Amino acid sequence: MDMKKKETHIFQSEVKQLLHLMINSLYSNKEIFLRELISNASDAIEKLRFHALSNPALYEKNGEFNILISVDKENSTITISDNGVGMTRTEVIENLGTIAKSGTKTFLESITSNDPEKNRNLIGQFGVGFYSVFIVADKVTVKTRAAGLSADQGVFWESLGQGEYTLANISKADRGTDITLHIKKGEEEFLEDWRLRNIISKYSDHISLPVKIRTKKNENEGIHWEKINKAEALWIRNKSDISEVEYKEFYKHITHDNNDPLVWSHNRVEGKQEYISLLYVPKCAPWDMWNREHKHGLKLYVRRVFVMDDAVQFMPHYLRFIRGLIDSNDLPLNVSREILQDNRVTHSLRNALVKRALQMLDKLTQDTEKYQLFWKEFGLVIKEGPAEDINNKENIVKLLRFSTTHNNSIEQNVSLDEYISRMPKDQEKIFFIAADSYAAAKSSPHLEIFYKKGIEVLLLFDRIDEWMMSHILDFQGKKFQSVSKVDDSLNKLMSNDAYKDKEEQKTLQPFIKRVKNILGERVKEVRLTHRLTDTPAIVITDTNDMSTQMVKLFAAVGQTVPEVKYILELNSEHILVKRMIDIQDENIFSLWVELLLDQALLAERGTLDNPNQFIQRINKLLVA
Ligand code: ADP
Repeated sequence: MDMKKKETHIFQSEVKQLLHLMINSLYSNKEIFLRELISNASDAIEKLRFHALSNPALYEKNGEFNILISVDKENSTITISDNGVGMTRTEVIENLGTIAKSGTKTFLESITSNDPEKNRNLIGQFGVGFYSVFIVADKVTVKTRAAGLSADQGVFWESLGQGEYTLANISKADRGTDITLHIKKGEEEFLEDWRLRNIISKYSDHISLPVKIRTKKNENEGIHWEKINKAEALWIRNKSDISEVEYKEFYKHITHDNNDPLVWSHNRVEGKQEYISLLYVPKCAPWDMWNREHKHGLKLYVRRVFVMDDAVQFMPHYLRFIRGLIDSNDLPLNVSREILQDNRVTHSLRNALVKRALQMLDKLTQDTEKYQLFWKEFGLVIKEGPAEDINNKENIVKLLRFSTTHNNSIEQNVSLDEYISRMPKDQEKIFFIAADSYAAAKSSPHLEIFYKKGIEVLLLFDRIDEWMMSHILDFQGKKFQSVSKVDDSLNKLMSNDAYKDKEEQKTLQPFIKRVKNILGERVKEVRLTHRLTDTPAIVITDTNDMSTQMVKLFAAVGQTVPEVKYILELNSEHILVKRMIDIQDENIFSLWVELLLDQALLAERGTLDNPNQFIQRINKLLVA
């Protein structure tokens, strides 16, 4: 072979790391290399077909598409050839020498555990891709030429899958890519005809392009290519003819995710709009779901022709984990991302797809175990929904799951329907508390009365919760109410104590005044409460003031907010408060007041402005 500009390049360090991890974690499922290569070949051909619509010269002499697989037993090689778009020299360096996804380094570094099962999952999620060839091969040769370029602009790439690869210019008559794997000693099973046929049909039955294997019974016979897949796009087939396994394999083909999907929804719509959609929910969140540059969106086909990957216009942000495809009969074939952006057809497709996705999730709720898996992976993303998608709010809220004082566990597994079904008749609102952690929420003094009365409260402790709650005001006619805020419905719940309350208010009035005098403008009000059992004092937020968690949220993103003035409530049944009433010494009394306020603030906010002062006051009282 005539090679020009031969060079040795070293792999980006992430590639080296990935190769190492992959070879060590995926040894139990080696055959997936073929799935990855067939997927890449099919993508390359679909891309060519699309580009050739506007530039027929790209077809060159050959308009027939094929993925060809041949084995050379003598030399222990398998070659996979496609006549797709091919790659230029720059593209080869980019695609087969680096990993362009941002955040890869951190991700790969996080896979340090010695748990092979966990590693397998993580690597699988990452998308193993082309590099998986090195699981079974100790040398891989790629010859490729981009469609539309002249024959002498072919590129040669070769690597042993260690630190480096060789690059050269070659001549290649046909457009497309040939990948030759030199099979490792011990992996010869992949050279066996029956084994290959088996794997190939498993991984290619659902793709629309013909995959052919070379058969040559004896020396006198010429080369013959035998098609071994159905070569019919999966999504255009009838649902009833598609097996679960095929749906799962197709998912892996389009996503490069090595795990099975959790659930899917396949629909054909005819009438005013004509389209087919196939939506999947993955089992595991993509490793980069929280990256800004995370790729998401659906594969877009127009009348069976692949148009683009990652079409984000069809799914809102809070459903960015949904994978799959949409095949529309109504969009123009030359559609671009810009055209998609404000297009009437896109809008109505998007509305329909969101409904489908939400229906699919709603159906999934019937399988509690699976739904919990889903919620653990994607609950936080779904929580963005009520703010983002007002039209579907009610359906999104139905999908939410909460930890509550009833399930008494950190696990978020109570639905609002379930909560409402347990509400006593006279309870008007859905109660919740928001805090920094499960422990802080669960043991908040605000809940004492609720525990006492056996009323269930939602425990919110995800960062996003308070913000989410500010976008859902009610559900099925029931308003949401924070238990750390002043509210009439709370007073009603405590109505049994109202009589006592009136009497007390009178007799303890001088005491309350004394406390208020000491605290002055630092609190909005001082008053007695019956909501507490074990705690002497608590601070609550007035109805229209910003809640503690909301203030924290604003502070976290660098926004200043006016200082919140709390209402200090004292529990006159508590021994500390009872003792305090009798204290004559004004200095000691003021120490007690300050201490109770600080305690209440600490329980509410988790921090104090001046912790040292708090400690000094305690110490003073201890020795008094
Ligand atoms: P992924 O397919 O997930 O992007 P891969 O590692 O499998 O990751 O491939 C990297 C890139 O290399 C592909 O995105 C594609 O651009 C290119 N590539 C791989 N195989 C082929 C092929 N047969 N023809 C053209 N390009 C290819």
